[in-house]
Formats: sequence, C-alpha cells, structure tokens
Amino acid sequence: MRLSRRIEAVEASRTVRFTALIERLRSGGRDIVNFAVGEPEFPTPDAIVAATQAALARGETRYGPVAGMARLRSAVAESFAGWGPENILIANGSKQILYGLFQVLLDPGDEVILPNPHWVSFSQQIRLAGACPVMVDTHRHQLDRRAIAAAVTPRTRAILVNSPNNPTGAVYPPQDLAWIADLARERDLWIIADEAYAFFVYDNLDHHSLFAYEAIRDRLIVVRSFSKSFSMTGFRVGYGAGPEPLIRALGKLQSHLTGNVCTFAQHGALAAMDLDPTVVQKWRGELAEKRDIAHEYAARLFTCVRPQGAFYLFPDISARLQKGETAEDFAAALLEKTGVAVVPGEAFGAQNHIRISYAVPKETLVEGFERMEKALLEAE
Ligand code: PLP
Repeated sequence: MRLSRRIEAVEASRTVRFTALIERLRSGGRDIVNFAVGEPEFPTPDAIVAATQAALARGETRYGPVAGMARLRSAVAESFAGWGPENILIANGSKQILYGLFQVLLDPGDEVILPNPHWVSFSQQIRLAGACPVMVDTHRHQLDRRAIAAAVTPRTRAILVNSPNNPTGAVYPPQDLAWIADLARERDLWIIADEAYAFFVYDNLDHHSLFAYEAIRDRLIVVRSFSKSFSMTGFRVGYGAGPEPLIRALGKLQSHLTGNVCTFAQHGALAAMDLDPTVVQKWRGELAEKRDIAHEYAARLFTCVRPQGAFYLFPDISARLQKGETAEDFAAALLEKTGVAVVPGEAFGAQNHIRISYAVPKETLVEGFERMEKALLEAE
C-alpha cells in the first residue's frame, strides 16, 4: 500500500509493540511479570472517579472549549505565577501537546536537540514535523554541557529537557537547568520542558522546573500531565503552559485535530487539582522504597546508575550480552525464559540497555527480580 513518506519515516512505538507481545503470552496462559509498564499501579483516587461520574450523570457530555474548560485552565495556571488561563492549553495527554509543539514550532529541516537516551515519541514526533532530532549523548544519564553547546547549529530551534527522565529516571540539578536557560537565550532557542514525572522525585529532592527562570519565559513551554501524577493515564488529560501566542497556535492546531479533551475527563482532572496532597506523598514514599529494592537487585546483576525520579531503572547490560546479542534479543530471551518483561534500550535510542519499570506491587517486584537473578546466575 502506498502511504505518505512522512508516515513511512516513522517507527511504531516499540513500547506499544512489546505490550502487545506480553498480552499475547498472557492470553496463552503465561504468568508474566510486567516490568515494561509506563504507568503507576495505584488505582485512580476515588475523588477523581466520583467527580468524573458526577459530571457524566449531570450530562457534561457535549463539546466544550477547544483549549480546555475555563475552570481547569485557571486551576492549572495557579502553579505558574505570572501566567493566567490564556497561557494554558489542555490536551489529550502531554503526548498531544508535544506533537502539537513540533508542528507549530518546526519547519522541514529544522533541528531539535534531544539528550539521549530519550522517550520514544520525541524523536518520531520531531520527524513527523519534517524536522531532525539531533541526539546528544548524556553522561551517566546527566546532561553533557559541552556536547549540547557544540550541537547547536543555525538550524536548531529548540532543546528538549525531560526531567525526571523517561527512560533513565535521571533528575537534572538546578545548576544544569540554569546553563540550559542561558544557552537558550544566547542562541535564541525554545526550551521544551517535559515534566510529566514532576511529582515523582525522591531522596528529599524538590522538583525543579525551568519555569523558575524568569528570563526564559518567552521561549519556554512546560509540558505536564495528569496521567502519571494522579494515576489517571486512561483519562488522557495533559497540558502545556507557555507564552500566549504559542498557546494560541497550539489551540488552532487542536481545533482541527481533536477539538476539546473529553468533557467529563476534564472534570476528573479538576478534582485531581483539589486532591489531598498526602495521597501523592504516600505514593512517592512507596515508589522510593521500590526504587531502592529494584536498584539493589539491578546493581548486583548489571551496571546501574541509581535514579532519583520517575519510576524506571535503565541498567547497562553489556556484561550480560553474548557476542552479537542485542538488548532486544536479550529482552525477548528473558521474556521467553522467565516471563519477565522489560523494554529493550533500542526503543530509547540506547544499545546495551534495558528499561525496568518498578511501578508494580512490591511482591511482583521481588518475584520478577528473583526470576531474573536465578536465570542470569544459571547462565554464568
Ligand atoms: N512524556 C514522557 C516523558 C512520558 O514518559 C510520557 C508517557 O509515557 C508522556 C510524555 C506522555 O504521557 P501522557 O500523554 O499520558 O500525558
């Protein structure tokens, strides 16, 4: 079938492909420990579900304003001092904000600096806009200042900063955010700050947002999501916060793409803004504990940087690979042999790595690592 060159140049999301494989094995009766998930295991809080149901029962089932419900935009704007509802766009997940951003900011041939490893959709969405992702390797999952500065060319339009990071769990320290802000001003670049995991930072760290740097607010867009923060991935509600002309442009695109986000899902998001903060604090504590358990196992089996955010480990598995074996081969063999599913690093632009999600129940976490350890020690 003849399809557009644009879509042929893009790969299907490999994490989605892996999820399909797991489902197939599961439906065949296999007991799978799924470390490939990209969402928290916590049930959506009752208050959010109840508000959504109440909205539905009230008949909130019609089209709404394209850019999002006024009350929701105002509630979100409260986290961005100096910005108002006109600086906020509600979209179908932060994924849609990101897609829209690349469409409205980039022309064919433009470049975006993308620290690598990176979340799958960034590079593919940049390509869908006809532009070019310029991957810059990180060092122990942290930004390499010199390499990033050297990668800027006259075609560079933006730099993408994803902290806490998927797939590595890295959290960038404020001093790194400061030089990114300086670089963006000096070289006239946009900064796209993906803060989808803003609520999940550990070790008593605070989440540092690039929004703190006032001098870059005319070139900054902060992308966040209700998905991970409130365990409501299926609601599909995320948002972008940025300068008004950019938000208007994103709204124009959205008006031709999807229109408003599901009306009653937005009521759920509004309830999330009022959620008792101790709920998420408790989740954070549990995830920090799981991070420790997972890291202890992973550091015994592989070379593994200790991450401080999100809910992933991204170990280097080089020492476990046979000659010619790739991380994708390794992950497939692991799934076959032990029923433990992980995502191969190739999906994130990194060879010889796997991504392990520890956002699973504690017993499942231990069970999966025990199976993995047994199989790997046997193979020694
Ligand atoms: N950004 C990052 C870094 C992610 O990991 C994800 C989801 O995995 C998203 C954005 C998209 O999330 P959503 O569209 O559910 O808001």
